Amino acid sequence: MPGVRLLMVTPSAKTRTDLLLGWRLALARLRGRPLILSHLITRSCNASCRTCLWRADVDETSASNLVELTTEEIAWLYREAGATGFPQLVIWGGEPLLRPDLPEVLEAACAAGLSVALITNGWLLPNRWAALRGRVQRLILSLDDVGQAHDRLRSLPGLCARLDQFVTGLKTDPLRPRLLINTVLSRLNRGALRRVAPVAKRWQAGLYFCPMETGVMLGAGFSLSKSHLALPPQELKEAAWLARELQAAGYPLLSSRRYLDLLLRDPDLHTYRCRAPYAILTVKADGSIRDCTRRDVTLAKLGDLREAGASLATLLRQPQYRAMRARANSCTACNNPDILETSWAWQLRPFMLRHALHLGIG
Ligand code: SF4
Repeated sequence: MPGVRLLMVTPSAKTRTDLLLGWRLALARLRGRPLILSHLITRSCNASCRTCLWRADVDETSASNLVELTTEEIAWLYREAGATGFPQLVIWGGEPLLRPDLPEVLEAACAAGLSVALITNGWLLPNRWAALRGRVQRLILSLDDVGQAHDRLRSLPGLCARLDQFVTGLKTDPLRPRLLINTVLSRLNRGALRRVAPVAKRWQAGLYFCPMETGVMLGAGFSLSKSHLALPPQELKEAAWLARELQAAGYPLLSSRRYLDLLLRDPDLHTYRCRAPYAILTVKADGSIRDCTRRDVTLAKLGDLREAGASLATLLRQPQYRAMRARANSCTACNNPDILETSWAWQLRPFMLRHALHLGIG
């Protein structure tokens, strides 16, 4: 654990970063403020995954003609997030590397003191990494299978080999970010976990797997647009068993024991109390703040806050924000381990805090 190691050795830069992040997470939690700003920076994508719910042509929660935030507006958002005490920023999309201003917005995030995680399909990394390195603490690569099977899922021929070459080049980089792989399980990649785990080990990357999300909460109720692609419950149980076996065999699967146990007991994942809206604030590409319990309803608009001269912290006191949090009490629409594990962390469940410390927090 970083805290224990600090007492014994001169802290390395990485240890200091972990400690600072741990301190900022603890402070945010004490103040009851969100831990993560989740920013869907763009809806554009260069891939066309059938499981995606967020790309512009499949997103049913936003207007088709939305205008993305400018560089300056994003810099304002990140400054506000830093001033409000958010410790972490997750940038995703769409494909974030399609934003030409990504180096500038990452610079703004670093200046605001945010610890940055970037989620990408990785196609553009070889071209763009030189301008991004040093500003990303966690690089999360989407990898749903290996070799050409992965390329077909993303409709990007050569993608897996390209990622392999990029990661190999990173190994000697002193500014190498913490590397994570995210694998979405569906009927399109049955058995992928067993194939991806050795790649994660070779890449020295942590591996998360998620049952695919089948739909979203709308004002009118749950919209199940992709359920035909989801694995049936029995196969999700088998994935949980396999994940345990792979962990025991030394593969770097990062799922918590509690998440795997729950997936085995209740593969539909309806027996948890969601605290994600307490811990995560999500901003969409056009600057609308998402109400996760009614994703087609805008909670607030960043532009309105700016025009009124209000801070991001103002939003956290507004009744509609509190109402969203209250609705989480009876909502278990999400099956993503991020949502469940973040909820357990927010509730300060000891097993989750131990798990976070074991993984090195960030
Ligand atoms: S499970 Fe949690 S994160 Fe998902 S829609 Fe419900 S309240 Fe929001």
